[in-house]
This record gives sequence, structure tokens and C-alpha cells, in this order.
Amino acid sequence: MLRINYLLSLHIIMKKTVAIIFFNIIFLCLSVKNTNHTYSWGFFGHKRINKMAVLTLPPVMVGFYKKHIDFVTEHAVDPDKRRHANQYEAPRHYIDLDHYGKNPFDTVPKYWNDAVKKFTEDTLNAYGIVPWWIDVMSYKLTNAFKKMDVGLILHYSADIGHYIGDAHVPLHTTENYNGQLTGQKGIHGFWESRLPELYADDYDYFTGRAKYIEKPIDEAWNAVKASFLAKDSVLSFEAELNTKFPGDKKYAYENRGNVTVKVYSEEYSKAYDKMLNGMVERRMRLSIIMVGSIWYTAWVNAGQPNLDKIETKQISDSLKKALDEQEYLWKNGTPKEVKGHDD
Ligand SMILES: [Zn+2]
Repeated sequence: MLRINYLLSLHIIMKKTVAIIFFNIIFLCLSVKNTNHTYSWGFFGHKRINKMAVLTLPPVMVGFYKKHIDFVTEHAVDPDKRRHANQYEAPRHYIDLDHYGKNPFDTVPKYWNDAVKKFTEDTLNAYGIVPWWIDVMSYKLTNAFKKMDVGLILHYSADIGHYIGDAHVPLHTTENYNGQLTGQKGIHGFWESRLPELYADDYDYFTGRAKYIEKPIDEAWNAVKASFLAKDSVLSFEAELNTKFPGDKKYAYENRGNVTVKVYSEEYSKAYDKMLNGMVERRMRLSIIMVGSIWYTAWVNAGQPNLDKIETKQISDSLKKALDEQEYLWKNGTPKEVKGHDD
């Protein structure tokens, strides 16, 4: 009997050990997987943009959003996570304007239907649709306010904040989105993740009060236009710095959780940030004020509903379930094999 007990407990210990090793391996794989992706603005930047956008809202809205500030902050990165589950997701984050020639703003129609007629929906999806998608999302958010559906208001607010943030990233407007065509692979994450992670605590987040936007589609195009005009500097400054900076000082190694990752060194980052002359901060500030302004505009267009009435309401169980499933797929699924600024 004693021997059986001994064998039984030995068996349990072994099972536990195997389970611990197994979970450690899984955790390690996840850590590696998550650091490999070039996410837009990085998770850090997107979260900060949505959080700061709350502070731009007028008194009639700010109470509601402050109550849910953790939700709109944490879910600022849902659209990137969704890429693993939804094959239509990727093109909503960018637009490769250089595909349409030297003067894309004369070539690509402003409105979706005109653009489809000229280029077909397949072509538009192949090269990204971010400005049109911001417009679609602003209608969705307006309808959520009309229905006074707490879950949808928060879900769409978080999502649109993400797409607006992406539209402000210069490398989201070019086919050379990660410097892969010019021998600058890694520049995507350098500009939008590494630099904000190092310097965003010193940024000035006072962006003023959210404003009513007459035509969200115009504002979305303005954002991508400014991004497109900045992308040459983003690429050429780094190329220039690369030629004059000592090669052995360009990269460094940092521990992130269980993994060691190769990053652009602090010296190299500092020199690049100096050349950009505050560009990352400016694009981030413009993202913040536009996110707040789009939330405000959707609320106005919905007839300025009294948000005090839904103060105590909770997010529906079905939305919670859908978001949980999305989180699970992101952690455990494999990304969809689609072209989409993510390699
Ligand atoms: Zn994105």
C-alpha cells in the first residue's frame, strides 16, 4: 500500500513537472512570437493615444469615458490582435499610396465608391484602405451612440482610435513599410515602437479640446497625406545616420521577460530621434486630438445623447465573449497568411 502511495505521488510530481515545463515552453514561444511582430505604433503607443484622447473630451462626455478609460486603453490594440482571426483585417491599417504613382492624391478618389469604380475593390484591398475604414468606423460609432449601446460605443471607440493612430504613421502609407526595399529592415518598429517606448514619457500631451469634424473622410485623408509627405524623411534620415554611425554601436540587446531581443541602441535611437526633430511626438499628438475629435463628432451626429443614462450599464455578455475569443486566438492561433505590413 505504502509503495502504491509512493508511486502515485511520484507519478503526480512527474505529471506536474511535465506540465510546468510544457507551460514554460508555451510561454517562451508566446514571448518570442509577440516580440517578432512589427505592430503599428507598438502596443504601447496605441494604448497611450486612446488613453490621452479621453482627456480631450468635453465635460458632457468625459465622465463616461473616464469610467471606461481602462477599456478604451487596453482595447486600443484589438485591431492588431484581430489580424490573427480575420483575413479582411490587415488592409484596414494602412494604404500603400506610392503604388498609385507620384501624385496619389490626384489619382486615388476620395470616396470609396468612386475608388472602387476606378481601381476595383480587390486592388484597393490589396494596397490598403485605412482612410475609408476610418470613415466606416465613424458611422458605426455614431450608430452605437444612437442605440446607447455601452459595449459597442466602447468597442468602436477603441477600434477607431487604433485606425486613426495607424493613419498618422508615415510608414503606413508606403509599400516600403519596413524599409525592406531599401535595406532598412526594422525601421517600422524603430519609428513607431522603439522611439515612443524610450521617449514618450517626456512628450507634451496637452493637445487642446476635441473639435467637431465636418467630414471625417477629409480628416482621414489629411492624416494619411501628412504621413505620406513625412515618409521620405523617415527613411532617408535613417539611411543617412546608418552611413555615419559606428556599425558596432547601432544595436544592443535587452531582456524582455524570458527572451533577449535585439534592439536599436539608445545612442542610435537618440541620434535618429534628434534628426526627426520631434516628428514622432507631433504625429502622436495629432493622433490623440483626432481620436478625441472623432469620438466627439460621432456623439454630436448621434444627437448628443445623455451619457449619464448609461453610466451604470455594463458591456453585454456576447461582446465580452467575442473579445475573449479574439484574445484567445491572438495568443494561440496562427496569423492569417495575408499581405499586410506585418512581417
Ligand atoms: Zn494597426
